[in-house]
Amino acid sequence: MSKTIFERICAKEIPAHIVYEDDQVVAFRDINPQAPVHVLLVPRRPIPRLGDATTADAILLGHLLLKAAEVAKQLGLAHGYRLVINNGRDAGESVPHLHCHLLGGRAMDWPPG
Ligand code: AMP
Repeated sequence: MSKTIFERICAKEIPAHIVYEDDQVVAFRDINPQAPVHVLLVPRRPIPRLGDATTADAILLGHLLLKAAEVAKQLGLAHGYRLVINNGRDAGESVPHLHCHLLGGRAMDWPPG
């Protein structure tokens, strides 16, 4: 199977503005930001989407969420932020490699569009 664009970013085969990385996850700036801060956190091991995750992925997913909170703090989002995981067509998922959007730096509407 061909690599996803996010696998290629994790492997540094294509450029991205990486703000955090470790052996399990990589966080980088979204190329089309929807807020003053818009970062994507992805597991290095590609899971297509949250609906495909299993209990074997529980530690990895917990790690990803905790790192999202750490990155938010690192980027100064003291007034709040939103995490979004788009799962499937109706949610607007466009890259089949599980990713968590970290959005902040402005007030957010609710409900989302
Ligand atoms: P989603 O619609 O939830 O699948 O989100 C995919 C996100 O990936 C979108 O917000 C895109 O702007 C972002 N994206 C696509 N290609 C790149 C890239 N090369 N570098 C950074 N972000 C990207």
